[in-house]
Amino acid sequence: MSKINLTPKSGYFGEFGGNFTSELLYPALFELRKVFSKLKKDRHFLKTYRGYLGSYAGRPTPLYFASNLSDFIGCRVYLKREDLVNGGSHKLNNTLGQVLLTKTLGKKEIITETAAGMNGVATAMAAAALGLTCKVFMGVRDMERQRLNAQKVKLLGGEIIPVKRGEGVLKDAVSEAMVYWIRNIHTCHYLIGSTVGPDPFPEMAAFFQKIIGFETRMQIFQQEKRLPGKIIACGSGGSNAIGIFQAFVNDSCELIFVEGAESAALSSGSAGIFQGTKTYILQDEYGMDRKTTSRAAGLNYPARGPQISYLYKLGRIKAETVNNREAVAAFRETVRLEGLLPALETCHALAYLLRNKGKFSQKELIVVNFSGRGDKDMETVLKI
Ligand SMILES: *Cc1c(COP(=O)(O)O)cnc(C)c1O
Repeated sequence: MSKINLTPKSGYFGEFGGNFTSELLYPALFELRKVFSKLKKDRHFLKTYRGYLGSYAGRPTPLYFASNLSDFIGCRVYLKREDLVNGGSHKLNNTLGQVLLTKTLGKKEIITETAAGMNGVATAMAAAALGLTCKVFMGVRDMERQRLNAQKVKLLGGEIIPVKRGEGVLKDAVSEAMVYWIRNIHTCHYLIGSTVGPDPFPEMAAFFQKIIGFETRMQIFQQEKRLPGKIIACGSGGSNAIGIFQAFVNDSCELIFVEGAESAALSSGSAGIFQGTKTYILQDEYGMDRKTTSRAAGLNYPARGPQISYLYKLGRIKAETVNNREAVAAFRETVRLEGLLPALETCHALAYLLRNKGKFSQKELIVVNFSGRGDKDMETVLKI
């Protein structure tokens, strides 16, 4: 296979990606593309960004050899501990980058969307640390499910904008945030929390998340002196998955992407246009998005990002699904074996591993991207 390029100049990853938005957004998107293309090579910007990743976010995160889980599964399992990033998930890697970029644009307000609340919290943190104001659009159903994180955003000085339209979930919050952005295009930056949306957002989120794979590669070589056989990541938009996959995409490692069975856009969807980009989406015969019912709010999104769609279509990543019940079982199993509380999203990656217990060779090396911690999901898990 020829080398895979995840930073194409065109903004298209194969047939996926691009810019399918209202022309009202073109000036802001073109400006963003220009500024981002410059900043990603700017030494001063990168130094500041890496400084925040180190002393504010707490990087590098450890690559933990999970010995109990390894014995149980029957191979060597490592967990990349993104749950230890300040705020409790990988989201802060991206929000710090985009908030710094917003300052360069001279804009004073950040808006974003959130589902499980992790992106909302991570954005409010970065905005507070860097002195910008912040509005977080959140579906009313997600606000009920993730009360603690909604309160955290407020404590951090962010304003929560409840979104009632549609089903009151993540995709509705994204739509509402886009409308607000169009109206306030000169004063505010829309910080998209994952590798979704029109160009340059998918590339930008992937750029700020690539630190995960960069560190993992060095750490696994230090600890095992070889590449992993498999890398497993959960995902909706795909930012934590692309974050770790991109460092290995041109190696022989098997890359496994686990989506929620109740929102399985790769396994049960098809290509279409959604929220500004061409990508895999769960759609009905009219091209409208179908309802999703994943309990992990962060996975409850009907589309994948364009890079994930591209790698899937190429056959470079394998898609697997895990349902709500299996995810909760994996939560309990991980707590029992390792004393770690994974986020329900992360539990999807762990559930795939647990389902395949006993099927790997003893020597096989597997890395799971442990995308976040599960404190936010305690109520949901205890109710089941
Ligand atoms: C947001 C989130 C995800 C899903 O988002 P991606 O962009 O697909 O990574 C997964 N795990 C956790 C802990 C999250 O907070």
